[in-house]
Amino acid sequence: MSFLTFPKLLKRKPSSQEESKKSIKVGIPKFLNIWGTAPFWVGFFESLGLRVVFSSDTSEEQYRTYGKGRITMDSCFPVKALAGHIGELLQKDINILFVPMIYSLPSFLKGHVLDTLCCTRVMMAPENIKAGFLKERDEFKERGIKYVSPFVPFAEPELLPKYLYEALKDAVDGLTYNQVVQAVKEGFEALEEFERSMRSKSLEIMRWCVANNRPALLVLARPYHMDPGIGHEIDAEFQLYGYPILWYNYLPIDDWLLDWLGISLDISDVWTSSYSSNTNEIIWGAKFASKFPWITGVIRLSSYECGMDQPTFTPVQKIVESSGTLFFKFGELDETKPAGSVKIRVETIVYYLEKYSQEIIKKKLSRLGDIPKKLLEPVSQSA
Ligand code: SF4
Repeated sequence: MSFLTFPKLLKRKPSSQEESKKSIKVGIPKFLNIWGTAPFWVGFFESLGLRVVFSSDTSEEQYRTYGKGRITMDSCFPVKALAGHIGELLQKDINILFVPMIYSLPSFLKGHVLDTLCCTRVMMAPENIKAGFLKERDEFKERGIKYVSPFVPFAEPELLPKYLYEALKDAVDGLTYNQVVQAVKEGFEALEEFERSMRSKSLEIMRWCVANNRPALLVLARPYHMDPGIGHEIDAEFQLYGYPILWYNYLPIDDWLLDWLGISLDISDVWTSSYSSNTNEIIWGAKFASKFPWITGVIRLSSYECGMDQPTFTPVQKIVESSGTLFFKFGELDETKPAGSVKIRVETIVYYLEKYSQEIIKKKLSRLGDIPKKLLEPVSQSA
């Protein structure tokens, strides 16, 4: 499911405001928190009448060809990979290079969610990596590309027009504050529409599992692990064995389903130091997985030395395993894709899934009431 995300986004139809600015192309590196907010940016820029050009997925070739000599010291590969994305976009026909410094993220969770901050390394990555392109000469100026890197606090949406207008006004002739206000509104609408459609797709997959009594796997990771160059397509390996993959951030959150499972959109019962959007949602995903009978296994992905993930490893594993659900971790994903060892581990995990899934489904079902009618609805053709 995850790999269909971006093509779907890019097909979104242009909306209102102006056609006149269509010749302005905005390059956006497809990196880090763009993986969770891309529909917002597509909706935002299309509302302004600008065209969006994304970089490719992360790859070794991209990293070595375009990032070479510009990579700053960082032990975090997802951050380092940004140099390749920026370098690649500099070779494209773009007028603006837009690399937002995202400070906080939108979140579907409610209740005790103290904050939805991003990893500070992720937030500062645009500044760090930009330095590599100014080291010897100004590569942006040389190519006539305006580098725009606004501060973006998604958790305070009322501040977004101000920051985005200030950042873009010198790069886009005739831009007005009111246009930016409207564009922010359309950006959020696009994000909501996209998330709604992804949640409904997940529900269809879950209905298929119920109808066929087949297990699914849930992935707990950062959204950027959907990038094949960062997550190394580990989830796709399981799909080859016939296991549907669900991502925690696009699980259905309908009241009837959560009521049946006995969970809410709050995580205070298991996580009191709520701080980061991704972390909070990963914890919530673990709770969901521990209850939903047809999720019989959880795959945890994390990049090398990820400080944000460290404190959550044990609680997440405990929550998942508390119900007998199987838990597997791929914890040190780096630039090297260990294809062989991934395949061997996947084969081993599939053995356990095949052996125990039916037993897990039965045990989890016995703790719940009757299956809600809405979960038994026929699966649509597109599922
Ligand atoms: S892997 Fe962890 S520490 Fe590194 S950028 Fe991602 S969230 Fe931050």
